[in-house]
Amino acid sequence: MGEKYDVLIKGGVLVKGNGMLKADVAVQGERIEAIGEDLSGAQARRVIDASGKYVMPGVIDVHTHPVYEDDLGGLPLVAAHGGTTTVIHYAYAKPGMSLVETIKRFKEEGLSKSYLDFAIHGALFDASSQVEEIPEAFKLGVTSFKMFMTYAKLKWMTDDYYLTAAMDRIAQCGGLAMVHAESGLVTDYLEDRSLKKKEDQKEVFLKTRPDFLEAEAIFRAASISAVMGCPLYIVHLSTKRGARVIQRAREEGWILYAETCPQYLCLTDADLQRSGPLAKIGPPLRTEEDRLALWKAIEEGTIDVLASDHAPKAKKIDDPFFEAPFGSPSAETMLTVVYDEGVNTGRVHPSRLVRLLSENPAKIFGLYPRKGAVEVGSDADLVLFNPHEVWTIRRENQHSGAGYTLYEGRKCLGRPILTIQRGRVIVEGGEIKGKPGEARFLSTRISGVKC
Ligand SMILES: [Zn+2]
Repeated sequence: MGEKYDVLIKGGVLVKGNGMLKADVAVQGERIEAIGEDLSGAQARRVIDASGKYVMPGVIDVHTHPVYEDDLGGLPLVAAHGGTTTVIHYAYAKPGMSLVETIKRFKEEGLSKSYLDFAIHGALFDASSQVEEIPEAFKLGVTSFKMFMTYAKLKWMTDDYYLTAAMDRIAQCGGLAMVHAESGLVTDYLEDRSLKKKEDQKEVFLKTRPDFLEAEAIFRAASISAVMGCPLYIVHLSTKRGARVIQRAREEGWILYAETCPQYLCLTDADLQRSGPLAKIGPPLRTEEDRLALWKAIEEGTIDVLASDHAPKAKKIDDPFFEAPFGSPSAETMLTVVYDEGVNTGRVHPSRLVRLLSENPAKIFGLYPRKGAVEVGSDADLVLFNPHEVWTIRRENQHSGAGYTLYEGRKCLGRPILTIQRGRVIVEGGEIKGKPGEARFLSTRISGVKC
């Protein structure tokens, strides 16, 4: 009789960041204990037959907003249904709120409610009063901080003075600045001018947020970050012009990471026309040319991370467009749609997808190789993916409180069927097996690694 394990995943194809191989994976307790071509001599309390399936590291979704229709308990569960095992939430410190107190509240609530291990980014809605709290946030294990370069009318925008001040502080502490790169004041002027003319609101929305303004904001943020010596992370890159700026900044040797989201890789402005307010997100859905350029940017290595920007809002298709809030559900569909649109079309190799969804985020935020890797000693955070299953995304098979999906009726090849975190089954065949309150809070650490 051979070794005795808790879980043995047999006969699957392991998808790692550097390639694929047929291998069995043995889990003991919370960790991966052994990986081998044939561990069939081993005993296990549970044997999972993975023949014909992919065994991948669980998705690490580093862009989630647990403050809308899915909370700190619900959001991780929604994400787990889609093959995610770790989330990094934005702790929303709105104007008038303390950053540190907000982080503490998120951490406490997450520990009691979350189904998945989680980390936290600080989200500074009022940098002028919150910058001073950055060093204290580090002591709580939070080392990345987002600022908006748009939403001036909402009074959430960080101007260049405080963007510089924040980057100064973040650099001193050894952290990472993150920006939503759009040019807020230009957009506001364009919007005021257009709305007076009573044009179609969806058209106005698109026209007032042109690609030039994303490219401009990325260049501005990257320039300031280079001056301040602060690593920078661009969230939800959405345009071809923006990708070019990132490429150029990289050539200069600046430390700059780029993230895009499934919606910019799988949907376009035609979906905005069809779904109206449901598809109102910031930055907006872009043109087909932009969408294809982002896939190209993935191929060329310009984009490091795929994350969901899951922000489920209660919206109706006939809501007045400009009054509808920004954001849509995205966490549960992410792996499925990028696999379908990327791997099934031959645009990306499954290994690159694993790098973008798991390995790179783990590396950037200092969680690797405990997370984001299928290696002996790593946390047993795994997703079983059936590349042969054909299914259709419908509101009825989704779990977000948003009550709709932007992918309604989309037929996909490939589906996550089992999600395991630290050896515990969280979701299996669409059923919840995990429990809230077993999650861990993960401190992040920024190393400035090149992806
Ligand atoms: Zn977001």
